Amino acid sequence: VRQKLVVGNWKMHGSLEANGGLLKAVAAGAGALQPVQLAVCAPFPYLAQCQSLLAGSPVQWGAQDVSAEARGAFTGEVAASMLAEFGCQFVIVGHSERRTYHAEQDSVIATKALRALEHGVTPIVCVGETLAQREAGQTEQVVGRQLQALLDALSVEQLGRIVVAYEPVWAIGTGKTASSAQAQDVHAYLRGLVASRDAGVAQRMQILYGGSVKPESAGELFGMPDIDGGLIGGASLKAEDFLAIGAAG
Ligand code: 13P
Repeated sequence: VRQKLVVGNWKMHGSLEANGGLLKAVAAGAGALQPVQLAVCAPFPYLAQCQSLLAGSPVQWGAQDVSAEARGAFTGEVAASMLAEFGCQFVIVGHSERRTYHAEQDSVIATKALRALEHGVTPIVCVGETLAQREAGQTEQVVGRQLQALLDALSVEQLGRIVVAYEPVWAIGTGKTASSAQAQDVHAYLRGLVASRDAGVAQRMQILYGGSVKPESAGELFGMPDIDGGLIGGASLKAEDFLAIGAAG
């Protein structure tokens, strides 16, 4: 049986002051939700704050992106080794906002996942179709291609250490959640693809759903057989909402 995982993606939100209250409240509430695991993915400058306020609590933390390079003359980039130094358990890679605004391709996303794995940081690899792609009947083709890049680049052992997040682009920040049945269909499809590589890894892999998850919608989504938790944007910025989503796990 897979452990439920609920991860907050703060995106480009926060301040030292606001984060302090949020992190303390989440840390205080997380113990009661176990075995559901909570984590927050913060902007880079706040990773030290996450480390100092969450270390010793049940809440894990991580970043929202990582360089595909290990080190060197790459101005503005942040290496996986640096995330590991700040205690990051997770890093989000291939979020649709990175794919859209920074033209990240499947191959670079797979390389980022490899860099993270080299340093013991778990990549949360995001896949998802746009509304136009869904309406054209291309959902499985699109998410399949996005996941295939990982299946091609990673060994079975490495695949066993990643988390996948299905985030339909049309559901992100729109208040439009995929129905639990729509999400379940895609999650089952993704798990089947992993199974074609290794059945055991597929059984153990946590596949999260993301896209306008709210306390009201979390319970039904997380009750589906192939949905192992969520990647939460807007609702992760309020401790009460984030903990309520965790409680639905
Ligand atoms: P929202 O929950 O704000 O729709 O964001 C989802 C998301 O992109 C999480 O990575």
